[in-house]
Amino acid sequence: MEVRVGSSVLELVEGDITQQDTDAIVNAANPSLLGGGGVDGAIHRAGGPQILEECRRIGGCPTGEARITNAGRLKAKKVIHTVGPVYYRDGERAPELLASAYRNSLRLASEHGLRSVAFPSISTGAYGYPMEEAAPIALKTVMDYLREHPEIERVRFVLFGRAAYETYRRALEDLVGG
Ligand code: ADP
Repeated sequence: MEVRVGSSVLELVEGDITQQDTDAIVNAANPSLLGGGGVDGAIHRAGGPQILEECRRIGGCPTGEARITNAGRLKAKKVIHTVGPVYYRDGERAPELLASAYRNSLRLASEHGLRSVAFPSISTGAYGYPMEEAAPIALKTVMDYLREHPEIERVRFVLFGRAAYETYRRALEDLVGG
């Protein structure tokens, strides 16, 4: 599914974030930036040791912020590493921290002249954010950003599995009144 937001496109696909040919892919990292499971493990496995080496030099990333590295062997040019909230730990602050993770990732893409960005569903794996709650926040934050930032031409949400795709599709239809 895809919708226009201003002059940009927001699209939902079912797939694997490591296979995307967008200028940047976003990693759902942890604050150490030293690798983990889920999306993070998949990106480092597919991209090779160069990404982890750069992450080591950066030295970490607070929750809600983002950092950028090269993309090693991946098709994308850059990896943007962001740290989403831990649902049960961050409590009331979780929604705003989740929105910040998306916004700060897009800001980095704009600053680096990257025109297309692929996101996974941040925080909805090991970090325990229910996908039904995370999806509308993720989508609304990205749509609000795109309306103000036409330099980002395409944002693709890459959802892992049919159930995740359907959850995002329903949330997007609710947002655009479909
Ligand atoms: P977090 O620690 O932020 O929760 P995870 O990597 O554990 O991050 O999970 C985030 C989401 O990414 C989950 O919904 C998970 O199913 C999904 N996911 C896992 N592997 C991939 C992949 N290769 N591509 C896209 N999404 C993935």
